[in-house]
Amino acid sequence: MPLSAIINGETIIGPDLSEKEWADLAAQHKKGLAITMACCGAPGHLRRSKRGTQHFYHAVDTGCGYAEESLEHLELKYLIYRTCKDAGWETHVEFPAPDRSWVADVLAEKDGRKVAFEIQISALSPDQLAERDRNYRDAGIESYWLLDEYLGRAHDFASSYESWLREGDPRPGERVPYLDESVFETGTENHVFITRRIRTAGLHAKKQEVFTTNNPAIPAEVFAREVLAGNYRKYLEETAAAFEHTRKLRARAAPALFRFREFYHAIVRDRTYRKRADRALRILKNGKLPANDLRKKSGEICSELEWLETEYRLYISDPYGLFAWKRIPGKERPVLVFRPGPASQVKKLDECVKRFDRWESSFSHAMDVLERRIADGKSR
Ligand SMILES: [Zn+2]
Repeated sequence: MPLSAIINGETIIGPDLSEKEWADLAAQHKKGLAITMACCGAPGHLRRSKRGTQHFYHAVDTGCGYAEESLEHLELKYLIYRTCKDAGWETHVEFPAPDRSWVADVLAEKDGRKVAFEIQISALSPDQLAERDRNYRDAGIESYWLLDEYLGRAHDFASSYESWLREGDPRPGERVPYLDESVFETGTENHVFITRRIRTAGLHAKKQEVFTTNNPAIPAEVFAREVLAGNYRKYLEETAAAFEHTRKLRARAAPALFRFREFYHAIVRDRTYRKRADRALRILKNGKLPANDLRKKSGEICSELEWLETEYRLYISDPYGLFAWKRIPGKERPVLVFRPGPASQVKKLDECVKRFDRWESSFSHAMDVLERRIADGKSR
């Protein structure tokens, strides 16, 4: 239901009239003064809502979308309109684009900044939202969408956030090991802003409350003031920048983390290197290698393996600063997680992996030589 109508060629905003002016208008309307709905040109009437909000309604059903708007929508529109006006902004309700491609619920202007508030009570898909938001962007208007049933739609927004998060992963479809994904957990307003640059907030229309990740419920007028002060925009932009930064680190660290897991398998879980060395040394013991030579060879291999195991334990230890043991809900035992931290962390991780890589190739080389010697011995 609209707050505004056209009377004698002028746009009148119902709540702006005093009680006396409203009563006079009602009397004149009774005597035949025409009220035209600004939205569709249909004839209209005037009345007051239960809360006393002066507004207009369609006298006939023209199929106009504004006739469908709920009372909750009307009251919220008025509340935000009032708040913007009181904050000293030049404010319009039901403000149409020059070509009527969009109509803003509330449009507030000050010092060259144009802010639109859209109250959306009925369902809207992420694509519809993006399409409607583009209109505002094209018109140079900073738009804010208050979405009722926010949580019901949260899943749609979260799934595009998920794919955004995994963009650039070195092994698509495979989870990057040692990453504490809880650092990427956040609310819908950030999901929508990060993936689509659309500013939204959750709305409890009946309670006239708005909610976000960090604010479970604040009065809609408080939210509107935060928007006008630029604080909400700042919050969204700063959060998005921080997430973008962490996501980049994640992508940078991913190859090394995959490699690190391979080392875990080879060193700890499957003991691949040790088994290979043991096998060779066992054969040598039974073979013809002189005792001194054998002692030297096995001593070298054992100390190399010990070095490797010690290094590995060092890298995953808490004081080393690369990894931490973290309790994660749903997991019985603490799990090893990589600490994303500053970019230098990733460099440090890369260096560890490189050290292991170098060790691995020198170990492989030494083992190749040894195994060849065993084979030669056998064939001799
Ligand atoms: Zn209409």
